[in-house]
Amino acid sequence: MPVRAAILLFASLSTGSLLMPAAADGQASAPSADAALAHARALLRSTPLIDGHNDLPWEIRRAKDHPLDVAAYDLRRPTPKHTDLARLEAGEVGAQFWSIYIDGEMKDSGYARVQLEQFDIARRMIARYPDHLSLALTADDIERAFRKKRLASLLGMEGGHAIENSLGVLRSYYALGARYMTLTHNVTLDWADAALDSARHAGLTEFGKEVVREMNRLGMLVDLSHVSPGTMSDVLDVAEAPVIFSHSSARALVDHPRNVPDSILARLPKNGGVVMVTFVPQFVSIECKVWEDTGDSVRKALRASVPDTAEARRQWEQWEAAHPPPSSTVAQVADHIEHVRQVAGVDHIGIGSDFDGVDYTPVGLEDVSKFPNLFAELIRRGWSDADLKKLAGQNLLRVLRHAEATAARLQKEREPSTKTIEQLDGARTTS
Ligand SMILES: [Zn+2]
Repeated sequence: MPVRAAILLFASLSTGSLLMPAAADGQASAPSADAALAHARALLRSTPLIDGHNDLPWEIRRAKDHPLDVAAYDLRRPTPKHTDLARLEAGEVGAQFWSIYIDGEMKDSGYARVQLEQFDIARRMIARYPDHLSLALTADDIERAFRKKRLASLLGMEGGHAIENSLGVLRSYYALGARYMTLTHNVTLDWADAALDSARHAGLTEFGKEVVREMNRLGMLVDLSHVSPGTMSDVLDVAEAPVIFSHSSARALVDHPRNVPDSILARLPKNGGVVMVTFVPQFVSIECKVWEDTGDSVRKALRASVPDTAEARRQWEQWEAAHPPPSSTVAQVADHIEHVRQVAGVDHIGIGSDFDGVDYTPVGLEDVSKFPNLFAELIRRGWSDADLKKLAGQNLLRVLRHAEATAARLQKEREPSTKTIEQLDGARTTS
């Protein structure tokens, strides 16, 4: 640590505040880059940084040489993508929702088998490094792990297709440790519309609403990243507990269907939920969104005009190599955080990186070791320690505790739901 940063950090710690002193006229003098980074690190050691979304279990599943092999994907060594133990520690990560994502378009298996395999991979991964990782099922578990200097490890399912239209399967996943479920991934389900697919139900069906009610009764957070605005709206109408967006940014800044519209942000104070702002370049930068759209049209044109799929792939790779994505920045991510704060309020923001789930990352947020850069950026913008702690994880802890208390109440009021999609929605709309 540079001497000046160390002195400033010492000075701020010894006065009991991590804030840099403000100038006498009330205008805070922006701290230097080094001082802000030191301040960010000290802050994240005092409160858990809870990241909403990391796709490491899927990376382990599809590892080239040793697929599904938790031992071979050794987190004690540098790994090929964004996440390993040394970088998690350098990034001051206090708690991680490990995404146990499964593909919504698989043709060769039922969803439940693959979902159970992802539970198995994630749980073996957590158990393998007891000196570093600790399974967390509650808000108290997160705080306990943080005190013991372990990374609290939570499981988040990504894609309601995994329940195969069964509330019994949903309950079994809760019993295995799932503490959130993203209602859809990219494919519209029999009971919920996805952001990147056609809207067939104008939101949720009656069975979809029953899924939300049952998740509330269990204490599993309802994750609205990946769903359509209609689904977001319907969930907010029926939800009895706060919702989350585990990895989405602000649609007013970048008009991407994966982002959250202001009309939904404005409803969060009443619901109590949190948008965990993501770093995905196409969601945070207009230039990257345009690049993605152009790439999509090129791919579509190739599919239509080149029947040989290997040749089409070769031409696509050629295009991609000739057209690298524009760069995105930490400042752009901070802009999204500030927009959500402005519309929804400081009690409704969090962080959801999507590391290991993307091929490109913003400059300055290249991997899990870089989280302090984002906090340093906000410190330079004048954020208070109290607000930074809410963003880091205090908001998410509040949401989890609220969901746990709601579940305890609802379990006294009603039995597990035995409703079926056939009873609630009539004839099934797809096979
Ligand atoms: Zn995702």
